[in-house]
Amino acid sequence: MTAPNPLYVGQLNVPDRQATRQAFESIFDRRFYTNHGPLVAEFERRIADRLGVAHAICVTNGTVALMVAMKAAGLSGKAIVPAFTFPATVQSLTYAGVEPVFCDVNATTHNITADTVKAALEPGVSAIVGVHMWGQSCDVDALDAVAQKIDAVTIFDAAHSFGCLTNGRPVGGQGLCEVFSFHATKVLNCAEGGCITTNDDRLAAALRTVANFHDREGDVPVALRINAKMSEAQAAMGLLSLATLDATIEENRQRYVRFRDRLSEIPGIHFVDHASTGSSNFQYVVIEIEDCFPMSQAGLMAYLRSEDIVVRRYFYPGMHEAPPYNTRQWQLPVTDVLCGKVLQLPSGSMVAPGDIDAMCDLIAAVAARKGS
Ligand SMILES: *Cc1c(COP(=O)(O)O)cnc(C)c1O
Repeated sequence: MTAPNPLYVGQLNVPDRQATRQAFESIFDRRFYTNHGPLVAEFERRIADRLGVAHAICVTNGTVALMVAMKAAGLSGKAIVPAFTFPATVQSLTYAGVEPVFCDVNATTHNITADTVKAALEPGVSAIVGVHMWGQSCDVDALDAVAQKIDAVTIFDAAHSFGCLTNGRPVGGQGLCEVFSFHATKVLNCAEGGCITTNDDRLAAALRTVANFHDREGDVPVALRINAKMSEAQAAMGLLSLATLDATIEENRQRYVRFRDRLSEIPGIHFVDHASTGSSNFQYVVIEIEDCFPMSQAGLMAYLRSEDIVVRRYFYPGMHEAPPYNTRQWQLPVTDVLCGKVLQLPSGSMVAPGDIDAMCDLIAAVAARKGS
């Protein structure tokens, strides 16, 4: 590999420097750094407009957004959640005093489904927490139907999915609420940041109350509060990132298609085409290493890393294998298989077309090795 620097998964989409400087100067001029400032208010308005949702509540990061959502939703008992996800989806439940019960995912989409949820149901479930994996959405309507039958709510971890559609509707307005991350590696970024979107006025008031430890006008009774306020600096970054989001998504799409065209041809590599409907943000380039490929997932990861291509195993280990959740015997056959064969490749603005070709050449050369 000839890249001058290592290529990482999740590269920052860097905003225009002059515009960034101006935005930060305006914060210093106002001397208004945090506590519900004008930029946070504007960012929330623009997110709600873009997603066609009544409320957007911006907070410190995606993990805190999940914690605040679980707390404000007043969940109790247990929640169904995939083990094939980022740790925060599950940990936020534990923080809110809710016991996670893992369900399996679909082998093709990597998402939870009505069937995998039904197979995992047990008494005391108050929520189904879906994750829109890689930017494609869960079958929201089917999950809502299951939830309704057991008098539970649906909450969606949409950290991968800003700018994506579900059945023609923007991700953001489904379920009781949806939760976004604006971490540096996400398609829309504030360096660190997160947001909860909902059409439920009562929940929105509870979310704003939980997210702010001080009493304010409009506060509603909640069980517990915390400081989850987004700063003006974060909102300034987010506004810049939002202004260029469509261009970012188009550049992502071009890289995605280049990867897909090459990787789909390589024997033993399954390109996870999570964006064939065209409603994705194309942020993630995901492959599965099949049994017939000459290297294992770990072997290919080590080899590519030795070539400065810092691929990552997702999600490894699965949350059902991680403490404190591994004290119970979970039956999650698809999750187990996926954890052992999924790799995510570097993409994003720092990855040039030539880098994509070089990465694919390396993988193709390994595939051509016989019986190693
Ligand atoms: C990134 C991510 C999170 C956590 O968001 P942070 O902003 O990094 O705290 C949660 N869930 C999923 C699926 C993610 O990808």
